[in-house]
Amino acid sequence: TDFAALGLAEPLLRAVAAEGYSEPTPIQAQAIPPLLEGADVLGIAQTGTGKTAAFVLPLLHRLATHTERPPRGFCRALILAPTRELASQINDCVRSYGRFLRVSSTVVVGGVRPGPQIRALNAGIDVVVATPGRLLDHVGAGVVRLEAVETVVLDEADHMLDLGFIPAIRRLMGRLPSTRQTVLLSATMPAPIRTLADDFLRDPREIAI
Ligand code: AMP
Repeated sequence: TDFAALGLAEPLLRAVAAEGYSEPTPIQAQAIPPLLEGADVLGIAQTGTGKTAAFVLPLLHRLATHTERPPRGFCRALILAPTRELASQINDCVRSYGRFLRVSSTVVVGGVRPGPQIRALNAGIDVVVATPGRLLDHVGAGVVRLEAVETVVLDEADHMLDLGFIPAIRRLMGRLPSTRQTVLLSATMPAPIRTLADDFLRDPREIAI
């Protein structure tokens, strides 16, 4: 199977070719079709499996199929990750895979000055890649609103559990519209992550690699 058979839009196929990917990895082949249909997905996947492209490509496809810019102070997609490093790597993927689309993205993490983040969020940005604590600060301060989020991704959920982010994640999820698409990826499925999935995913397709 190839990427075109999965149903991705042409600008994404060009980006994937530019990356040098010739065929989808197993998690991509399994996750991309249901994600394009709008289904929720619960994925048990390790790093190195191509999991980032598995959720970023369909997220960009869905944003690109209707292209209105987000209103000021809103975002359209949210990706939560445990660390600054991972958030920044995911944003690099969003930029590369979205290079032939007009999609804006930004990283929102702790440990850096909030000013530039506040300006970016205020302007309205399509994709926010964030660690939960700093994003919650901005949401609490009214810098960004999550009521227009179409897709939310929780990446490395077990790692976010280890770092104590579950309460912040639950508060952020409470701000999202109930009509959103939810994707949860985790290398392991401890009970608190299973509970999180039960609470926030709707009839998810389960994928294990
Ligand atoms: P990840 O599991 O998302 O951390 O991805 C691991 C590595 O696989 C990254 O360097 C990606 O660029 C690469 N990769 C992702 N999808 C593919 C693909 N379909 N073919 C070849 N390499 C890929």
